[in-house]
Amino acid sequence: MKKIQYERPVIQRLNAGVMNKFGTKTEYAPVTEIDGNRVKDLITKFGSPLFVLSEKTMRQNYKDANRAFKNRYPKVQFAWSYKTNYMNAVCNVYHQEGSWAEAVSGFEYQKALKNGVPGNKIIFNGPDKTESELRAAIYNNSMIHIDHLDELYLIKELATEMNKRPRVAIRVNMDTGIYPMWDRFGFNYENGQAWDAINKIMLNDKMDLVGLHAHIGTFMLAPSAYAVAATKLSDLALGVKLKYKKNIQYIDLGGGFASKNTLKGSYLQGADSSPSFDQFAEAITTAILNAGFGESDLPLLILETGRALVDDAGYLLGSVISNKRLADGRRATIMDFGVNIMFTSFWYDHKISPAQEFSQYTEDAVLYGPLCMNIDVIRENVTLPPLKRNDQVVVHCVGAYNMTQWMQFISLRPAIVLIDLEEKAHVIRKRETLQTIESEEVLPAYLKEIKL
Ligand SMILES: *Cc1c(COP(=O)(O)O)cnc(C)c1O
Repeated sequence: MKKIQYERPVIQRLNAGVMNKFGTKTEYAPVTEIDGNRVKDLITKFGSPLFVLSEKTMRQNYKDANRAFKNRYPKVQFAWSYKTNYMNAVCNVYHQEGSWAEAVSGFEYQKALKNGVPGNKIIFNGPDKTESELRAAIYNNSMIHIDHLDELYLIKELATEMNKRPRVAIRVNMDTGIYPMWDRFGFNYENGQAWDAINKIMLNDKMDLVGLHAHIGTFMLAPSAYAVAATKLSDLALGVKLKYKKNIQYIDLGGGFASKNTLKGSYLQGADSSPSFDQFAEAITTAILNAGFGESDLPLLILETGRALVDDAGYLLGSVISNKRLADGRRATIMDFGVNIMFTSFWYDHKISPAQEFSQYTEDAVLYGPLCMNIDVIRENVTLPPLKRNDQVVVHCVGAYNMTQWMQFISLRPAIVLIDLEEKAHVIRKRETLQTIESEEVLPAYLKEIKL
């Protein structure tokens, strides 16, 4: 065991105006390694900045979530949300654990097929499914979650033409007590649209209504909202049974469980305020179990949770480019990663740890990225020990959405490394080069020559 260094006690002045009797909390201990790999070695080997994913954390999160639901409900199935992180290595970790796939676009759908997910274990969501994508999904027996009536009618036509019975579900939106309400996707529960869609599917008999789906929002902090959604979907399923003598095979509660990140403006740290998988599972399963299904009619419970499974498995390693004083006297530290690769810094106060030992002294600072763009701010206000040029940091909880929403702007995107269970690091996406950027560019012949 490593001996902890003795530090002399100090008296610190309390900061007035900060809601904490101990003054501004230093959330930081140095983080010098990730799953047995030294941060310095990773940066030397793969460059800075660098995304690092912990396979161990991914699998552990999956097991925790799966256990929370399976302990409470007999039939549970996870489906990996591709848009949350569609690196094939990441998807396949979750597929190896047993997850099906959940795609919201044609190319995500193709990725899932290529990764080896059988067509009948792919859920196809989203408002924009083209005719040819729908054809493929019908052909592969995928679960198609209908978003609007135009799609419903198109699927009906394709079913007739292809002489197949598509497996469909409808996406339902509803009032769960969380506002603003997400009512732009799917059919509304309260105003009868959902029933209208169900009737159109059932009376037409060209499609097989296998499920009911809701994805009520993003970064949800209230398990009770899921209980409301589960109750309303159960009510629809029981209504279908009563009216059409048909069992709905599954109820899909979507994703959106909050990860351990800290939302901007939140008083508590995300790790203290985000509900656990057990709390979400308790709310959802209790609602379905108490809804009134007969024992043999209990639907399969599908969950499409993304961020809560992968966010804290992702780290961004980076280096300090420079320090400066702003005109108002504040310390500013410029990092080699910006909002181009850390899109989520627009809504989270990401925890940032120095990657080397530091002294007791800390100072409030602004953390900027390297872009020539005024909005490139990583943290508007963070208490850190002074960092000097080439010092390194570890940004926490960046596994969700950053590797899919990142933008190619001003600088090239970094490599992504996955650390496996044996603590070996694998590059799962190479650092971009000029060639990556230009590979799809076409320069007309007459513009090839310039003379200056
Ligand atoms: C984005 C999305 C998810 C995953 O959401 P997370 O917030 O990452 O858990 C699941 N289902 C649907 C339909 C989505 O659009």
